[in-house]
Amino acid sequence: MQFQNSLAFAQKMDAEDKLHKYRNEFHFPQIKGKDVIYFTGNSLGLQPKTTQGYIDEVLNAWKKLAVEGHFHANKPWWDYHERLAAPLAKIVGANAEEVSVMNTLSVNLHLLMVSFYGPTNTRYKILCEEKAFPSDQYMLQSQVRFHGLDPRETIVEVKKREGEHHWRTEDVLAIIDEIGDELALVLIGGVNYYNGQVFDMKTITIAGKSVGAHVGWDLAHAVGNVELELHNWDVDFAAWCSYKYMNSGPGNASGVFINKKYLGQDDIPRFEGWWGTKKETRFLMNPNFEPMDNADAWQISNPPILSLAPYLASLNLFEEVGMQALINKREKIVAYLEYILKEIDKEVDGSFEIITPKDRGCQLSVFLHGQGRSLFDYLMNNGVISDWREPNVIRLAPAPFYCSYEDMYRFGQILKDGILTKRA
Ligand SMILES: *Cc1c(COP(=O)(O)O)cnc(C)c1O
Repeated sequence: MQFQNSLAFAQKMDAEDKLHKYRNEFHFPQIKGKDVIYFTGNSLGLQPKTTQGYIDEVLNAWKKLAVEGHFHANKPWWDYHERLAAPLAKIVGANAEEVSVMNTLSVNLHLLMVSFYGPTNTRYKILCEEKAFPSDQYMLQSQVRFHGLDPRETIVEVKKREGEHHWRTEDVLAIIDEIGDELALVLIGGVNYYNGQVFDMKTITIAGKSVGAHVGWDLAHAVGNVELELHNWDVDFAAWCSYKYMNSGPGNASGVFINKKYLGQDDIPRFEGWWGTKKETRFLMNPNFEPMDNADAWQISNPPILSLAPYLASLNLFEEVGMQALINKREKIVAYLEYILKEIDKEVDGSFEIITPKDRGCQLSVFLHGQGRSLFDYLMNNGVISDWREPNVIRLAPAPFYCSYEDMYRFGQILKDGILTKRA
């Protein structure tokens, strides 16, 4: 498609966009009395207008029924979480039984490593990407130390090549091959938070498993953003948070995927609690743990219903729209943003550079030459919420659920004015 850097063209794109109306389903913050251009759906998604109703429903049931709400609320609490599994399974490409919602992301990855990282004398290494999200680095280091090992000899990082901004799949595969029998676990962020790169999860999963390692994915930036086929790729486990592209609210509950082949086992290493035991016998309160035969076996506590409610609100919107429609719009709107950036870059004579590779989801990371933080502040003052990462990168994620083509055009104009003003 031949894009144009004009308001009329952007508005025409919006008029033809079937998802455009969903913009009205979200609350937008305002700056100087106007809805912002929101580029940080990769950090905290906007609040759906239906969210409040889902939370109120729980509060009202608690108010009117108190403990009886566990079994007699309109959506009873004791199995409330089960409503989330099927829609989530569609989003991550899994069977509903392979998906559960519990805790928060870093906690869940720790719990999953209890099951999937059991180092031996000969097989103990973990492969991850260089400069992984800090929480992932801390998780891996502390897991390794917990097993009495030295992170420096245990964690192997795949590096980017000198002068390049992305990881190459061939380099990941070469290291997997090299570590071979010593590799216990591959755990990588499926979409990198910094440069927006989508890893070739299928190929890397196959490679990791072929040398006998477990393969897990941190899908914080992938879920609700890119196509996932966790079951078909034969991924062992994965976890994600729900507050980024999933729009479920700050710090909200995490989802997990556990491959079907590990379900229904009672001898798998796992930290257990009463919500993982068979629900039919749970309230007999007997001392024997009998695991649920789905991923809920990893649930420890009874889940926080006030967190599940906004997650369910958001999942119902995803159900209505469908991942494929979101992916289709995402590809188009990100391509349009890229086009706008390149046009503006020409007009202002090479002030910045896109460092996100072609394998990308919703996010474009832009390296600013010369002008840093002050330009970012200019954007914010002029109604653009984006995200700043040291040393000189702004991250722009036009979430297809609620961003418009007009937003992209207007952003380009603000960016240009900002660069020219700062330069003057
Ligand atoms: C956002 C993010 C997290 C956040 O973890 P929490 O436990 O939800 O605080 C972890 N890992 C990655 C890769 C992320 O992008």
